[in-house]
Amino acid sequence: MRSPHDRRPLISAVLPCYNEADVLDRTHVRLTSVLSRLLSYDHEIVYVDDGSTDGTWETMSRLAERSPSVRAVKLSRNFGHQAACLAGLRTAAGDAVVLIDADLQDPPELIPEMAALWREGWSVVSARRRSRDGETAFKKASAYAFYRLLSAVSEHDPALDTGDFRLLDRRVVALLTASPDKNLYLRGRISAYGLPEAHLSYDRDARQAGSTKYTLRKMVALARSGLLTGSAAPLRLTTWLGAAALAGGLAAAAVRRDPRVLARSGAFGAQALALGLVGEYLHAVLRQVQDRPDYVVERTLGGSAPPAAVLPGHPLGDPGTAKRAANGGAAL
Ligand code: UDP
Ligand code: MG
Repeated sequence: MRSPHDRRPLISAVLPCYNEADVLDRTHVRLTSVLSRLLSYDHEIVYVDDGSTDGTWETMSRLAERSPSVRAVKLSRNFGHQAACLAGLRTAAGDAVVLIDADLQDPPELIPEMAALWREGWSVVSARRRSRDGETAFKKASAYAFYRLLSAVSEHDPALDTGDFRLLDRRVVALLTASPDKNLYLRGRISAYGLPEAHLSYDRDARQAGSTKYTLRKMVALARSGLLTGSAAPLRLTTWLGAAALAGGLAAAAVRRDPRVLARSGAFGAQALALGLVGEYLHAVLRQVQDRPDYVVERTLGGSAPPAAVLPGHPLGDPGTAKRAANGGAAL
């Protein structure tokens, strides 16, 4: 008989769904066929209905009634993809949780490879889009530009060309769900933790049914959250503009010996500088309100965990133990 200590690790798949009734049954079939072949893991599926109006809830509640490994969460209205992901993360019980879109643009067939990398000790396994099928040129170009801009201004290196399709170790999930940060840009927060992250490349398929639920407005909101929470660069721009205008005004006034030049551009510069300074304080307050962890312990070795570690360690114990066990060593 198996003791609770050698239980199989649980993998949760979390799928945010907004008006996905046309595709959800197909998604469920493909996802369960992948998960049920993962014999060394238990699995569960968490569907989150983000305020759908098209029968998505009826479909997912039917799936939940039929299978004990399916959970369905209904949000009271449309809160947006990131909020739906967070609701799913709060519901999922897995030792590892995979965030995956409901429209089959993220191939579930990648999950076994993600799980294998997780067992090797990676805390995050993200899937990078090598190509994007069936998306408009505007969507591709704006995504390309956004990821590069974000990478240029971010304090932490964000993974390029990745959406939210990724596997997260339980402790990453715990960090995400404990944070009071209201600016939801989960992938940015995850990369800021600095935990070991592996990347897989995949060709992104076209959406299998229905149309995109990410309206331009939602994309802009996501980009804004990403930029504001990942970087102080937009705020600092005002400071630098102000300083440059002030310096330019002083120089021009000196060269032309005309104090009016100084009055004009200098006044603008001083104002922008003052605004920038206010921005700096705002940024400091934002940091405080975000209440991100001051540090994240990557792993601990040995018997007793240090007191008041930010979070418990790897759910499978020392990742090295997992490796040894896979090679026929000690049981977990
Ligand atoms: N989604 C959501 N709430 C929203 C918008 C989207 O839960 O307000 C879900 C959607 O059902 C899908 C995923 O988020 O599972 C990605 O959305 P979509 O495929 O429309 O975005 P795209 O792939 O076009 O960027
Ligand atoms: Mg999609």
